[in-house]
Amino acid sequence: MRWHAEHIQTPREMSHPADSVAWKTFDKTHPFFASESRNASESRNVRLALSTDGFKPFGQTGSQYSLWSVILTLYNLPPLMCMKDPYMFLTVIVPGPNNSKQNIDVFLQPLIAEINDLWTEGIPAYDISRKQNFQLRAALMWTISDFPAYSMLSGWSTSGHRASPYCMEDSLAFSLKPRRKTTWFDCHMRFLNRNHRFRRDEKNFRKNIPSFLVLLHS
Ligand SMILES: [Zn+2]
Repeated sequence: MRWHAEHIQTPREMSHPADSVAWKTFDKTHPFFASESRNASESRNVRLALSTDGFKPFGQTGSQYSLWSVILTLYNLPPLMCMKDPYMFLTVIVPGPNNSKQNIDVFLQPLIAEINDLWTEGIPAYDISRKQNFQLRAALMWTISDFPAYSMLSGWSTSGHRASPYCMEDSLAFSLKPRRKTTWFDCHMRFLNRNHRFRRDEKNFRKNIPSFLVLLHS
């Protein structure tokens, strides 16, 4: 469980999320959780990920029965272990027969309460390898899902004009004329450098797009 803090990272290589900037930033932001030295007892604190997806236990055809499983994984462990089934915990099953898009919150509530407790208070635990008692805490680092399930977990609708959870209401999505289909055509130009040659390209991009909208987010 201390592997993430004790392993030696090959320079410029990422073999585990613990090598990532995001992980290190998390540690810096929450020193009480991670400890600044990264090798004190706090490295035994648990790093969790939550993943969920719908599942049809009776196959794609025949009975239309769909349930949702929520699996917690442990990212303290080395890469060879952290994605193996003994260390993946099936914590919640949302029963069918219907796809319970809104109800998943209800089923997740006890789990979220417990994760919150583990983050704020922790629980007394015993480390058998060091023969020590310590206060074990846990953090939910991220969630893993497809894009529709992202909306169920986050509460942000991932369909329609504001489907992007990053751009939110700043989205430049618009409807195509005949069938009101949402499109993000040309919406990426604003991420280009202000002097990028595409900015002046009037031929290959959408015409009559107000230039202030394009520049707004650059
Ligand atoms: Zn976006």
